[in-house]
Amino acid sequence: MTQKELWVSVLRRIKPTIKKAYFLTWFQNTVVLRKDEGVAVIGVPTTFARNWLNDKYNVKILQALQEADAGIQSVSYEVHSRLSELNNAEGMDVKALFATEDTKKVRKVRKVNEVKVKVGGSSGHVSSQMLNSRYSLDNFVVGLDNRLPHAASVAVSNMPGGIYNPLYIYGDSGLGKTHILQAIGNGILENFPDMVVKYVTAERFVTEIVEAIGKRHTHKFKEQYRKVDVFLMDDVQFFSRKHSSQQEFFHTFNELYEGNKQVVITSDRPPSELDDLDERLKSRFGMGMVVELLFPDYETRLAILNQKCGEFEVLIDPDVLGFIANNVHHSVRELEGVLRQAVAETELNDSVPTIRSVAEIIKRLDKAQKIIGYDIEAKRELIVKTADDVMQLVAEYYNLTVDDLVGKDRHKEIMVPRQICMYLIKNELGQSYEKIGGDFGGRNHTTVMHACNKTASKLKKNVRMVRDVNAIKREMGL
Ligand code: ADP
Ligand code: MG
Repeated sequence: MTQKELWVSVLRRIKPTIKKAYFLTWFQNTVVLRKDEGVAVIGVPTTFARNWLNDKYNVKILQALQEADAGIQSVSYEVHSRLSELNNAEGMDVKALFATEDTKKVRKVRKVNEVKVKVGGSSGHVSSQMLNSRYSLDNFVVGLDNRLPHAASVAVSNMPGGIYNPLYIYGDSGLGKTHILQAIGNGILENFPDMVVKYVTAERFVTEIVEAIGKRHTHKFKEQYRKVDVFLMDDVQFFSRKHSSQQEFFHTFNELYEGNKQVVITSDRPPSELDDLDERLKSRFGMGMVVELLFPDYETRLAILNQKCGEFEVLIDPDVLGFIANNVHHSVRELEGVLRQAVAETELNDSVPTIRSVAEIIKRLDKAQKIIGYDIEAKRELIVKTADDVMQLVAEYYNLTVDDLVGKDRHKEIMVPRQICMYLIKNELGQSYEKIGGDFGGRNHTTVMHACNKTASKLKKNVRMVRDVNAIKREMGL
């Protein structure tokens, strides 16, 4: 077994045991550098990755190495900056490696129901656009403004070729058109496993037809498309000014429609505004059901964020989610993007998203954006200098008052934040136990010392607490 094969087999063992996003982050561009007398030396691109692998995954890595090669007794890590280069030939490109494996899996399940358009005879390639199983009608959050498109989609997936045919869904970019269109496809395949579902973007359709014309295979092209039971066409506005492919689409559409096959179309505008599109096509688009997707209201945005937190398997402070919902004004994609970034950023520095960190992300994405409910400039100026500042921050973070913190209540919900607060004042501001005791309602210095030691030892075991403390420190500008 070469070192490369060894590493692929190790990665294959580890991958199912950790979250995919972590796997891709921490194992990207890693490599087995050498084996020295039972020590496997792993090359990694950054010190950060080295520490992370060493701290969190060492046991898994060693186990997997030993399963693949019994001669290995221990493992060590070395940082090589050349591994951090984008196109380095040495490190394992896990994203590419497992991306192809993952799509293969999907392909296997769906194969029978997906039409593949074969282009260019024996030497030609097979092209097909897959349905992404991530999109379902169940995980499409329904609010006041998108109830109708959702209901129509559910109806279509229960009865393809029924009264909502064609179904035409339009709305601005990032409002869920592709999601709902693919969800219809997935829903139909679930309800009618024998149906042939074809999903294609208008852009892809145009590329295919142009290729087919070039290679004189238009006949085959037509045949393939006409075998489908359900035709899902994404972003139909792309056809504007593409006259010859429009014609082809028009014929395909008509034949499917006349054969009572379900057609669903998405677009960024209503049929009437599809400039430069054949009038006959426009009027046919309008014959079934035309529905608009709108930017969801606050409650729905919040529900979407909660839904995505579930999908990403993260727990986030409801106030922070409310803040995101309040400050994203354009699209659901942006909403999801802010959440993703917040999660990624805080996973990197082992903390949790806070209003401050999220405000910074929103500002970075759109400099012109006015932030509601947080004065980002003022907070940037704020440098935490005094014990009062720290108390204020800790109290805010835990939804308590400063009086709670200095008071006598010994309930865990108050006591733990109190101890954390003392710990931070001691460690970050370097104040004496006596002084801190005085500020906390005249407590004895030994009480403070105990609180600090207790917090320090908890921080060695309690991941959640580490994250909280790191988040508070970031709020302190540290
Ligand atoms: P479009 O095709 O309209 O540009 P997408 O379908 O790609 O938009 O949606 C962008 C992102 O927003 C996707 O990740 C999608 O899952 C998500 N999304 C949009 N609307 C909703 C919703 N109502 N519920 C859950 N997720 C949504
Ligand atoms: Mg789309």
